Amino acid sequence: MNSLTNVRVRFAPSPTGFVHIGGLRTALYNYLYARKHGGTFILRIEDTDRERFVEGATENLISVLEWAGLVPDEGPRQGGNYGPYFQSQRTEIYQKYARELLDKGFAYYAFDTPEEIEAARQRARQSGNQFMKYNFTIRHEMSNSLNMTPQALRAALDAGKPYVIRLLVPEGRQFEVDDEIRGRVVFDSREIDDQVLLKSDGFPTYHLANVVDDHLMEISHVIRGEEWLSSVPKHLLLYECFGWTPPHMAHLPLIFNPDGSKMSKRDIQSLDELPSGKVDPDVASYIRKGYEKAAIINYIALLGWNPGEGDDRQVFDLPELVQEFSLQRVNKSAAIFDLKKLQWLNKEHIMRRDVASLMEELKPALRKAGYTDVADDYLARAVGLMRERLYFTEDFVKLAGYFFNDPTSYDEQAAQKRWQEDTPELLRQFAEAIRKLDTFTAGAIEETLRQVAEAHNSSGGKLIHPLRLAVTGVSVGPGLFELLEVLGKETVLRRIDRGMEIIPKLIS
Ligand code: GLU
Repeated sequence: MNSLTNVRVRFAPSPTGFVHIGGLRTALYNYLYARKHGGTFILRIEDTDRERFVEGATENLISVLEWAGLVPDEGPRQGGNYGPYFQSQRTEIYQKYARELLDKGFAYYAFDTPEEIEAARQRARQSGNQFMKYNFTIRHEMSNSLNMTPQALRAALDAGKPYVIRLLVPEGRQFEVDDEIRGRVVFDSREIDDQVLLKSDGFPTYHLANVVDDHLMEISHVIRGEEWLSSVPKHLLLYECFGWTPPHMAHLPLIFNPDGSKMSKRDIQSLDELPSGKVDPDVASYIRKGYEKAAIINYIALLGWNPGEGDDRQVFDLPELVQEFSLQRVNKSAAIFDLKKLQWLNKEHIMRRDVASLMEELKPALRKAGYTDVADDYLARAVGLMRERLYFTEDFVKLAGYFFNDPTSYDEQAAQKRWQEDTPELLRQFAEAIRKLDTFTAGAIEETLRQVAEAHNSSGGKLIHPLRLAVTGVSVGPGLFELLEVLGKETVLRRIDRGMEIIPKLIS
């Protein structure tokens, strides 16, 4: 384990009702970083925006994290020494720190009504300033404590006039961060508003709550999406005002749709009919669709990270990701969501699964499809053969019917192509030869097939293709000799007979 002292990282979502792919990636990278460095992974629910409150959203979020195996060390369910882990339960803490900023002269009361702010915006527009900021440019002409006598302020407060608390952003300052991914980023204070810290309902805004909590929870590294990079100067100023050391920061690249647009749930009706160029940002949709957990995690890890130059490994499970992960290998440039790659990874992860777990998962679907009395050892052999051919586990039920029933139809196109004049004779001789086999193993079957073909001066393929068609009804499947061994001699002989009877009629 790589040791960095006291790594404490957090995933700090605002529950909005569904877990975004980008959100799960942030959670994953934080988790990986914590595990890699023997640190602590914290879940903090940033639920101070009461207008955006969605019933059940937090529970849903926690259950997706648990499903993914990204269980926090500290959080709403686990507790911990730095709680509560819901920001909505910490409002008094934020109010105390807002007061501290007021007392030190780093913040001020602002009583402006929405109409007054709108009027200021109009004035700014008329003088050619399209994008008014509430900062040094206008604060002197607004209704705030900077422009009031102490008596007037007292009177306004006593009268219960609604107010917000704003951060007093100095003019002409530069703020710099050495971002672990983006390198040095410099901000000018001119670009920043006198940010509202505490709203008129007494709830903090994101900026105040986030900085206060990152400090109080002793967060060592802030790892989050690039959309938060523009908040950094406000946060740096807050750390400075409080006299605190800011945590290390790492801003993760954005994730886009294949067409380069932002991933939005509004674009998506169902995963089966994606509008062109779009993908579903909702993690739950992929879970419902039947993607392997390991594949989803693996894919999300690769959205912005790679194991290193010249290292073309792509398939990782969670412990392997913990081993390999580093912030140095996170890209600066945006990632594009590629559904085909996710599907490929799904197949790779199914191949890595053990047969027993696949069998257990498949049993209910098999029962539903009517395959009720399949012996376990037979099913295990069938699953073992099919495992590497499945894009989704449920494909097994669709593809593997021939393990349980004789074919009732035959691929006609394959029949046209593969069933030739000498096919019946070759098959007859092959059937004769295997009937005599004492051990019906893949090796013995292959050997027999080669001998029959050779005796006919013909290639193995001339026998293999029609044989597969007769036995399974289709033209693709697992290795033929292993398949025949699993089906057993009796079944194979019966199906060859039946195929020889029916298939010629299809092509005549
Ligand atoms: N609550 C913010 C979010 O929803 C957290 C941003 C951060 O990590 O600072 O993503």
